[in-house]
Amino acid sequence: MALLDGKAIAKKVRAEAAERAAAFLARHGRRPGLHVVLVGDDPASQVYVRNKERAAGKAGLEGKVHRLSADTPQGDVEALVGELNADPRIDGILVQLPLPAHLDAQAVIDRIDPAKDVDGLTPQSAGLLVDGRRGLRPCTPSGCMRLLHEAKVPLAGRRALVIGRSLLVGKPVALMLLAENATVTIAHSRTEDLAARVAESDVVVAAVGRPGLVRGAWIKPGAAVLDVGINRGADGRLRGDVEFEAARERAGWITPVPGGVGPMTIAMLLSNAVTAAEWRES
Ligand code: NAD
Repeated sequence: MALLDGKAIAKKVRAEAAERAAAFLARHGRRPGLHVVLVGDDPASQVYVRNKERAAGKAGLEGKVHRLSADTPQGDVEALVGELNADPRIDGILVQLPLPAHLDAQAVIDRIDPAKDVDGLTPQSAGLLVDGRRGLRPCTPSGCMRLLHEAKVPLAGRRALVIGRSLLVGKPVALMLLAENATVTIAHSRTEDLAARVAESDVVVAAVGRPGLVRGAWIKPGAAVLDVGINRGADGRLRGDVEFEAARERAGWITPVPGGVGPMTIAMLLSNAVTAAEWRES
């Protein structure tokens, strides 16, 4: 069993982004600009956004956070996105989710210029992914694919199971596996006999948010297991969706939680922001 070390690979991805950001600065006389919109004071979002701001600065990007109060009306949030779209020095716009309940998140996302959609969540980005065309891809799924590539996990012709069908993780990672010629199944809350689906799969991506949902005994010997789930237990510890200790006995490759898929997400965001900057200038 090989542990897929997300921390180490994320470090490599961040270093690559920093190198490309420096080359961009030398060529265009400005840093790639990544702006984050944060509405309200959700404590987890505050931490995520601070981490993104710090990581952007370290990689030599121009990172900025726009903090809006929790009661900001829909029109004002959309107007801010419009301003960021219009500013030529801004290459990437990320709206931190979830937004407060009175806001229509999809309508806000829909306002983002697809050329600046570093989270890959606009309908345009989703369509480009479906069509296999150049576009900005969601960060967590991109991180999963990078982990698989780094470990040289064979994908073409293999059976891949994605558990979860969200726009953020499940659907895009399924399409990315399909683009690599895997035979892809998407399981979800209504799937019957999840155990059998897992047992026949060479690659399993779990993105549900239910601790220990995927039993170690279900894993096909030698399979690659990517655990996207982040679940905080009553003891304060983070756990994934996969029963890790039992699964590692059978898996060929497996990501730990924490330290697996999690660190890849911010690294891929930086990479996307530099890519957006390069494409916008080319
Ligand atoms: P979501 O709630 O939008 O989607 C969960 C999916 O799980 C749904 O599609 C649902 O159909 C499916 N599901 C629910 N119960 C199921 C069951 N019993 N069997 C099979 N499928 C079932 O969540 P999301 O945004 O896709 O996130 C999923 C998990 O990944 C969460 O734990 C989230 O915290 C985590 N996450 C981690 C990162 C990261 O950077 N590591 C990024 C995004 C999300």
